[in-house]
Amino acid sequence: GVPKEKHDYQSDVARLRKIVINSLYSHRDVFLRELISNANDALEKLRLTSLTDKEVLSGAEDLNVTIKAYTDEDGNGRIIIRDTGIGMTPEELTANLGTLAKSGTTEFLARAESTDTTGTGNLIGAFGLGFYSSFLVANRVYVASLAAKSAHNPEPVQYVFSSGADESSFEIYSDPRGSTLGRGTEITLVLKPDAVEYTNPHKITELVDKHSSFSSAFPIYLYTQRTEQVPIDEDRSSSEDPKAAIEDIDEDEAIIEDISDDTEEEKAPETKSVTVEEWIHMNSQPPIWMRDPKSVSEEEYKSFYQATFKDYEEPVAWHHFSGDSGSGVSFKAIIYVPSHLDDSYWQNPLTSSSRDIRLMVKRVFITSDLGEDALPKWANWVKVVVDAEDLPLNVSRETLQSTRFLKQLRSIILKHILQMLAHIAEEDSEKWEQVQKVFGNVFKLGAVEDTKNREKLVGLTRFATNQRNSTSLDEYLGNRKKGQKQIFYLADMGSKPEILAKSVFIEKLHARGYEVLLLTEPLDEIFVQNLRMHKRVPFQDVAKAGLRFGDEDVSPEEEKEEEKALTEQYKPLLDWLKEEVKEVVRDVIISNRLVTSSCAVVADMMGYTANVEKMMSASQS
Ligand code: ADP
Ligand code: MG
Repeated sequence: GVPKEKHDYQSDVARLRKIVINSLYSHRDVFLRELISNANDALEKLRLTSLTDKEVLSGAEDLNVTIKAYTDEDGNGRIIIRDTGIGMTPEELTANLGTLAKSGTTEFLARAESTDTTGTGNLIGAFGLGFYSSFLVANRVYVASLAAKSAHNPEPVQYVFSSGADESSFEIYSDPRGSTLGRGTEITLVLKPDAVEYTNPHKITELVDKHSSFSSAFPIYLYTQRTEQVPIDEDRSSSEDPKAAIEDIDEDEAIIEDISDDTEEEKAPETKSVTVEEWIHMNSQPPIWMRDPKSVSEEEYKSFYQATFKDYEEPVAWHHFSGDSGSGVSFKAIIYVPSHLDDSYWQNPLTSSSRDIRLMVKRVFITSDLGEDALPKWANWVKVVVDAEDLPLNVSRETLQSTRFLKQLRSIILKHILQMLAHIAEEDSEKWEQVQKVFGNVFKLGAVEDTKNREKLVGLTRFATNQRNSTSLDEYLGNRKKGQKQIFYLADMGSKPEILAKSVFIEKLHARGYEVLLLTEPLDEIFVQNLRMHKRVPFQDVAKAGLRFGDEDVSPEEEKEEEKALTEQYKPLLDWLKEEVKEVVRDVIISNRLVTSSCAVVADMMGYTANVEKMMSASQS
């Protein structure tokens, strides 16, 4: 036989396989989606490589995925999933299937081990685990692969990776059958006895419809065989499979002889069984972004999102539209708002995952990297699929960048995101609350950084006040008191609105019916300091000295006089206090801003507020 190299799995793989294999029975379905998604990835890679190196296409003309399911001679169910994609060299078989190079998988491991088993089951069900999910249904898996021919790999040889579900090692050997594949990868699952249901074509069709029909641009074919009763005198040339017809000819003639003996005239026409073999094109429906939005169900939008962007949570909202770039490129797009930000968003807001904007041309994936034309930081969590009709198929990202299309696309996407969010704010208060929780700070960041869209982004910001949980700045202005010429705010980063509401700084304002923004997020203060005003009404920090309300019944001059008199009257007290606290306080003055409290410590009119001081000292340490 062929010499077989034996390898031990990397320890992480062993851990992962244990989790997968022990995971819940009810999540086994995901294996098919994962294997089809790998096949699709391999075809995408091949297609992209072929743009610069035609040779990789040799060996197999069609780019497709085929699935065959049957019962083998030992009575075991088998599923064979084959693709004509990029394939793997023996080294790649070892590296890709025997080690965990994927950071996503490592992250999964960390999560899976930190949650209880139910959580793990959910994660597997929603996320998938790639290739290892094969072992949910298979006792043994063979992966035969023939890498694409290229300058680096002029004479590829077909190799096999093989492993059992309970083994701590895998084998790699050259395929004793030779190079049967032409090109690509063939995965053979020898099913566990309790997983034979997966050989049923109806089951396979159901799973492909549910999870994979929209995520593959390449055709997926299912091999089926059925026995059909056909009238013996049927015109054989009309049979769907010519091969089946030819094999049946002998038997056919025998039956014809039988009939010639038959004398009974009224008898129904004689029939006979023929085996019809067929490759059924399973994903012949257009992908969902090409369909009429009215014909796509909510469920379809959600599962498409989850499969495409590998998010185990449902999106909060989406918008499906057709557009024209303005430079003559028409396209269809779906924009999704996810229900959460990546954990790393605020640590490193510049990075976005490479799956976030999937740009396709005529259904074929081109790139998810828009380079310089990527969305601004505040919007780079948006998930988008875009399919352009009027670009050449062999367009590369580099050539795309030199067209105006990407720039136009970028601003169209931003416009639609802002519209979609404004729509939610108006129409769906429950959803809007959810959006605010996740993206509230993002909108404030956007208002600061994206000057072009500032006004719309400001419209999405919300603030707590002493009078209500949440207000927009427009609502705030609408609630101004007569004569009020400022937007009052009190900021204390890291505090809570309920606590700020009780602050001495707003006692008097509150008592007189003024609304005061209570800012507790780091971005709030950056926001007001950058904007300085809204609709020409300036922000005013109520913790700064020299505050005027606007409804005072005395003029500033009169007030000054009064203050002077009081300062004179209380001079001995003020002098004594100044002396007592001189180490920590610059000055002690008479104030008109308190109602029930006897004194307050405030920031200098020109100086930093306590909040900004906090940030400065934090950044110095
Ligand atoms: P992921 O798809 O997230 O990378 P998988 O476990 O699904 O993780 O697959 C691991 C790797 O194995 C893939 O990244 C790819 O390099 C390789 N691979 C899996 N299936 C195929 C295939 N059908 N053709 C080519 N390479 C494959
Ligand atoms: Mg995968």
